[in-house]
Amino acid sequence: MHPSRSLFLSLATVCCLSSVNGSVLAQESVSTEMNLTKEEIAKSGITKETLAKDNNLFIQLATKFLRWRDPQEPFHIAGPLYFVGTQGLSSFLFVTTEGNILLNTGDPTSGPMVEGSIRKLGFRPEDIKIMINGHAHSDHSGGFAHLKKLSNAKLAVMEPDIAQMEDGGKSDFHYGADWQIMGFEPVKVDRILRDGDTVALGDVVLTAFNTPGHTRGSTTWVTQIVEGGKAYKVVFPDGGGFNPGYRVSTDRPSYPGISRDYRKTHHFQEMLEPDMWFGHHTEYFDMQGKLKKVASDGPAAWVDPEGYRKFVVGKKQAFEQEFDAELSASR
Ligand SMILES: [Zn+2]
Repeated sequence: MHPSRSLFLSLATVCCLSSVNGSVLAQESVSTEMNLTKEEIAKSGITKETLAKDNNLFIQLATKFLRWRDPQEPFHIAGPLYFVGTQGLSSFLFVTTEGNILLNTGDPTSGPMVEGSIRKLGFRPEDIKIMINGHAHSDHSGGFAHLKKLSNAKLAVMEPDIAQMEDGGKSDFHYGADWQIMGFEPVKVDRILRDGDTVALGDVVLTAFNTPGHTRGSTTWVTQIVEGGKAYKVVFPDGGGFNPGYRVSTDRPSYPGISRDYRKTHHFQEMLEPDMWFGHHTEYFDMQGKLKKVASDGPAAWVDPEGYRKFVVGKKQAFEQEFDAELSASR
C-alpha cells in the first residue's frame, strides 16, 4: 500500500473513519483543508506500522490533521442539544430546566475551550449537573477534570472504563504502558453505569449501552429529542473502531475476548435505527457538511439514517478485514 494512503487509513481509524467512504473523506480533508500535501506525508516514510509503534507521533499527527484543537463556533443542533466541541472532537451539551448534561470533552487541553463554548451560547458551565462519556481515551475524556472542578458535576461512567478514568489511562489495555503520552488528568467517577442504565435530568433521558471493543467500557448513548413538535431518535455510537496497534483477532488479542466484544457491538449498533446520529469525532458524521445545510433545511439537516447505517457497516467491515489479516499473517 502507498505510504500516504496507509497513513491516512491509520489516522482514519482513530477517528473511526474505517469505511471506504470515510477513508476517502479523511484523505480529502487532510490533504486539502489542512494544506498539507500527500507528497510531504509520503516523503516522511510514515506507515501504519510506524504509527502503531509510535503513540507520540500518532497523537501529534491526529491532533494536527484531524483538527482536534482547532476552535469551532458552538451551535444549536435540535431541541435541548448543542455542540460545544472543537472542529475535530465532539462535545455535546443537553440543556434542561434542571441544569445541563455534558457528553464528552476533547483532549487534555480542551477543558477551557469547552467551557468557553458553553458560555458563548449563553449557558453556564457551572450549571452542568451530570457528565457522561463515550470512552475513556484522552481525546474525549481529557477535559473532564477541568469541567468537574468548575461545576462539581457528577460523572457517570460505564463500569469497565471507571478504573482508567480514575487513573488517567494507566490501566488502559492498549495505551496504559504509554500513559505519559496517551493519558489525561484523572477524574473521580461518581456513578457506576451498567448496560441499559439511564441518566435523566429535566426532560432529557439518555440510555447507556455498553458497546465494548475500542475500550471495555465504551458506551453508545441513545435518546429522544423533540424539535418543532417532532420527535427524533438520536444515537451516539461508540466502541466499534480499532486503533493502530490493536490486536482484534483471536491470535494474541489485545485482551481476551476482544473479537467477541467487537462483534457484539457491531451487531447491537446495526439494530439501532436512529433519525439523527453523532460521533465523538466530527468527521464520522460529516458535521461541517451537515452544518452548511442547516441554513436551508433547519434541524432536518441532521437527519441521516442512511449515514448511520454506512458508518456501522464500515466499522464492521474494517474489523472483519483486520481479523482475517491478523489470522492469515500468523499462519
Ligand atoms: Zn479512542
